[in-house]
Amino acid sequence: LEFCQRLPKIELHAHLNGSLSERTLRILNVSEHNINLYQLLHKQSNAEERLRLAFSLFKVAHDATNTIDAVCTATKHVIEEYYRDNVIYLELRTTPREESAMSRKEYIEAVIKAITDQNLVVVKLLLSINRTHSLDESNESLETILEMHKLYPNIIKGLDLSGSPYSGHFYKDMFERARQQKLKITLHCAEIVNNEEVNTILQFKPDRIGHGTTLHTKYGGSQTNWELYNNLKIPLECCLTSNVLSGTVKSFKEHHVAEWIKHELPFSINTDDKGIFSTNLSNEYYLMGEAFNLSKEYIFNCNYKAIDYSFASDEEKEQIKGILTQWKSAQY
Ligand code: 5GP
Repeated sequence: LEFCQRLPKIELHAHLNGSLSERTLRILNVSEHNINLYQLLHKQSNAEERLRLAFSLFKVAHDATNTIDAVCTATKHVIEEYYRDNVIYLELRTTPREESAMSRKEYIEAVIKAITDQNLVVVKLLLSINRTHSLDESNESLETILEMHKLYPNIIKGLDLSGSPYSGHFYKDMFERARQQKLKITLHCAEIVNNEEVNTILQFKPDRIGHGTTLHTKYGGSQTNWELYNNLKIPLECCLTSNVLSGTVKSFKEHHVAEWIKHELPFSINTDDKGIFSTNLSNEYYLMGEAFNLSKEYIFNCNYKAIDYSFASDEEKEQIKGILTQWKSAQY
């Protein structure tokens, strides 16, 4: 664990409102009753109940971040916590929300303010479309996202599709439009068995895929999709604790990343919702190392490769690679 803690790390899959720690929730004046709900998640033995609880915790976080100031404060603390965990490059994602006290544009500006007010971590912003929202709402959101991307092209780097996989849609045309405007695309995909949608997503060829739990045939994926995926080799964003606690994967040892390791397919290790699942990136690397008996060299390389899968500019990628190479040479 100590090695994983010291390693300068790359995080590519972190939802802002899932990343609020207990400390941040207290700073945002969340009641002790609601903070205790977070601890319940670990005590709940039924996987379905845990998933239901996880989604109700997003509501707690959303209620705590319904003003411009609260969004800015939350973002600032999340970045500081990643910094303390030795994360040097962070792609933070969030769904722009319209609240009575702020517009979607103001929501995005608040996140950007927190990002630009600090110089602890290189932070890029990915904006999310929630698959359970209506087409009209998502289109409105996309308009704002594209407008803001023009203003902050060096910070806003990508568009994500997230939200409960049990309902909603992948609105392909919206993501096609975003791609034409030079936004990178990452899509939550195959969190549950849904081979038709997975096929549509693979045909779309996103830059990255979130989770991909059921892509492999062993976990319910179709042979066609697995073969297609093997031809495309799209980097997968893996989130071990999140998958195990939300019950989409049975145990760490049975995590589908085993197939990516075995077949040398591209993947990165991430936290997903570090507040909800009480984890951090060091812990995620440690858990993977323990589950699959991986060497420090393997873990270093896995984190190093994530730089290439990131949405940073080529120049930024080279700088980050330089930091890691230097760190490695100082170890021996
Ligand atoms: P936010 O976008 O509000 O900053 O972060 C919370 C949101 O992220 C949730 O409402 C949900 O839409 C999305 N999210 C967080 N974790 C997951 C996950 O594991 N799977 C999916 N599909 N969506 C998630």
